[in-house]
Amino acid sequence: MMQQANDIKEITPSAAIDAISYGWRAKCLQRLVRMELPVPKSWAIGAETVQAIAAGHGVPRDALSAIFGREDALVSVRPSAQSPDWGGPGTVLNVGINDVTHKRLAKRIGQENADAIYLSFVQSYAIHIARLDPDMFAQHGPNALGDALRCYRDEMDEEFPQDPYRQLAEVLRSMARAWDGPTARLLRQAKGAPQDAPLGLVVQDMALAMGSGISGSGSIQFVDSVTGTPRVTGRFRGQHHGAAVGTGAETLYLTRDSRGPSLEDAAPEVFADLVRFGVAARERLREEMQIEFVVTEGQISIIDAVRVQRSSRASVRIAVALADDGIIPHSEAVMRVDPRSLGDLLHHQVDPRSPRDVLVRGINASPGAATGRIVFNSAAAQAFAARGEACVLVRRETVPEDIRGMHASVAVLTERGGTTSHAAVIARGLGRPCIVGASDLVIDNRNRQLLCKGRTFQEGDMITVDGSSGEALVGEATLLEPALDDSFTRLLDWADAAGGIGVRANADTPADARTARRFNAQGIGLCRTEHMFFDTDRLPAMREMIFADKPEDRRLALQRILPMQRQDFTELFEIMAGLPVTIRLFDPPLHEFLPHDRHGLHELAESLDLPLSDVTRRVEALSEFNPMLGMRGVRLGITVPEIYDMQARAIFEATVDASRKGAPIVPEIMIPLVSAMREVELVKNRVDAVAAEVRNERRTNFNYRLGVMVETPRAALRAGDIAAHSAFLSFGTNDLTQMTYGLSRDDAGRFMGIYVGQGVYAEDPFHVLDQDGVGELLLTGAQRGRAQRPDITISVCGEHGGNPESIQFCHQAGFDYVSCSPFRVPVARLASGQSAI
Ligand code: PEP
Ligand code: MG
Repeated sequence: MMQQANDIKEITPSAAIDAISYGWRAKCLQRLVRMELPVPKSWAIGAETVQAIAAGHGVPRDALSAIFGREDALVSVRPSAQSPDWGGPGTVLNVGINDVTHKRLAKRIGQENADAIYLSFVQSYAIHIARLDPDMFAQHGPNALGDALRCYRDEMDEEFPQDPYRQLAEVLRSMARAWDGPTARLLRQAKGAPQDAPLGLVVQDMALAMGSGISGSGSIQFVDSVTGTPRVTGRFRGQHHGAAVGTGAETLYLTRDSRGPSLEDAAPEVFADLVRFGVAARERLREEMQIEFVVTEGQISIIDAVRVQRSSRASVRIAVALADDGIIPHSEAVMRVDPRSLGDLLHHQVDPRSPRDVLVRGINASPGAATGRIVFNSAAAQAFAARGEACVLVRRETVPEDIRGMHASVAVLTERGGTTSHAAVIARGLGRPCIVGASDLVIDNRNRQLLCKGRTFQEGDMITVDGSSGEALVGEATLLEPALDDSFTRLLDWADAAGGIGVRANADTPADARTARRFNAQGIGLCRTEHMFFDTDRLPAMREMIFADKPEDRRLALQRILPMQRQDFTELFEIMAGLPVTIRLFDPPLHEFLPHDRHGLHELAESLDLPLSDVTRRVEALSEFNPMLGMRGVRLGITVPEIYDMQARAIFEATVDASRKGAPIVPEIMIPLVSAMREVELVKNRVDAVAAEVRNERRTNFNYRLGVMVETPRAALRAGDIAAHSAFLSFGTNDLTQMTYGLSRDDAGRFMGIYVGQGVYAEDPFHVLDQDGVGELLLTGAQRGRAQRPDITISVCGEHGGNPESIQFCHQAGFDYVSCSPFRVPVARLASGQSAI
């Protein structure tokens, strides 16, 4: 016996129906009922009853007597999970039809129409409830109904059930069981449902969508799902009752301005009522809804309403419009948009309506989409670009020499690498769509072709890189324009107004800095100065400096670089107009600046005017087994102190120059890859000395702040000592993650998919901050730093600075700001606002 029959309730305005026990659909229908919309009689079946049914308890007739105690009642059964995203078993319509009701129905709407309705129920019952072979129930034509009933009897050794109670009990049982099936579980868990997510069900009187006059079924919504702009869309299918198609069936457009006959013309009063109901539902449900309706001989029934499906850009527009209309407060509009989706608005996107022929999947390293012809090296990219042809650079992985090619291309695709690999970081900085770690690619540079799963593509073939999804597509896809409109700007202003953690940008170039300003970043949190030399014209100067092994050669190389850097910093200061600018002293992973092949060595020998053998010898001497743990960051600064001296001088001279023209500048100088307090002391002493020299030479005063990048576990643990000499600590969570896990940020892409797939890591830790491990180092470092120096500024400038969950963590930990790629600033601002609401 089933114990919970009392949680079958008619949905009335006052019934106690909550979304947790009865599901979102039941709750939503109750709201529509309260609005006095013409909703057919409906009942909500609570999750406990559904569970009992799934466990094999029968449903007592009594409990269903309200439903079938009336003549000719036909009902639908729909799933009602707690969240509409969790899906549920398919709807079953026309439950209750039998030979008697069928006969009576035929008198009302004609034999053919009644046959179509009965047939469609027999078919769906046979296939979904009795689980008979669908091929046996594909009947249509004049004798279809008789054939289907016979077929049912032959297969089941009994007549088709005539008792409506039994039909309904079987439908409920089948739906309750389907919810527990392994596929349904997996699908909903992927959408965030807990393992034991309950299911409610909704039973509703069928509104007849066949008959004389205007009869049929349809759906209507009042905004465009792709753009979010107000527009009535949907369809109306005359004489269509569920899957049953009646005589004289036709499909109408909804509005008069469409390309064919419309409901608005055929039945203007029906259309006007639908619009009226839509406006009311939007206000009461505080959401843009898609409304399912039936028209029976001119009378409307509202049978269901669901949240309108929407693209990222539509979700922003809809939230802002609801707030503008006073339906929701600004803070709620801020909460309604997924920060991650904002990335889609800043770039071109593949139109979700266009077909996708996937060439390969990889890691979505930089968002947006672009179409171009395949090229395999920078020279080809430049040649294509010079002809005005868009191209996509396809490489195994990228190195600084590829910057030219990346600049000349509209997108980048690499076989190797992870979210913080060279290609990924540079592409994000350039705002180019990029996919890395597409390990199914086989690149044949010699024959200029790429192979992937049995397909071959040549240089010049057209592909589309969808850096938002991580899929490269064959051919040219339809793209949507970026949507930096008024709604976008205002939503972010509302997010800023909520407070939250500060947001700065990682900006290396004037273009980056301008983007940062455009997106209202509160300053530059990381300028990677070595990136200023990725440019083809400048790469030789950087190499010259790295290669110099005699003091005189080095002095000359540094003399060449100083004015470039001074110019760089002056421009950054001017663009940022008094906002803080944090400049990181050089952190050049040497291997990224060394040539990798004979051709590169040759080019370098030429540019340095040295014999090839000398260059080869020096490259060998500089080569490291483990360059990411080698002569990087402050280690270079301590070993060859003239390099940082030169940078400090460039920064201070630029400070004086820029302060003369505008607001006074207080530059922030940051030391990378520190692991010991003494490193900071040594650098600080020299930087102070350079500051004193420049003050003297220029006969002017200025202030600056010196800080440390915490990106080794030891620096986090020793943050107390280190803070004694630091005005700020900025966690470089890319390296900190690499070193905490002992996981190469450039190579982890190869197995990250498997690791995440098997649940070893919940997420790629280079993408989402590992709060348990790396996060503990952040908290420990911040706490020790603050204990030593309470006014110290604490921030994160690794890629995690643009990740919403990581931003929330930093906000809760009381950090002062996060810094992320300029194109992620809007995402970070929204996430920051949300963390404060
Ligand atoms: C970091 O390590 O987190 C960081 C920001 O520095 P980079 O990515 O340049 O190593
Ligand atoms: Mg680093």
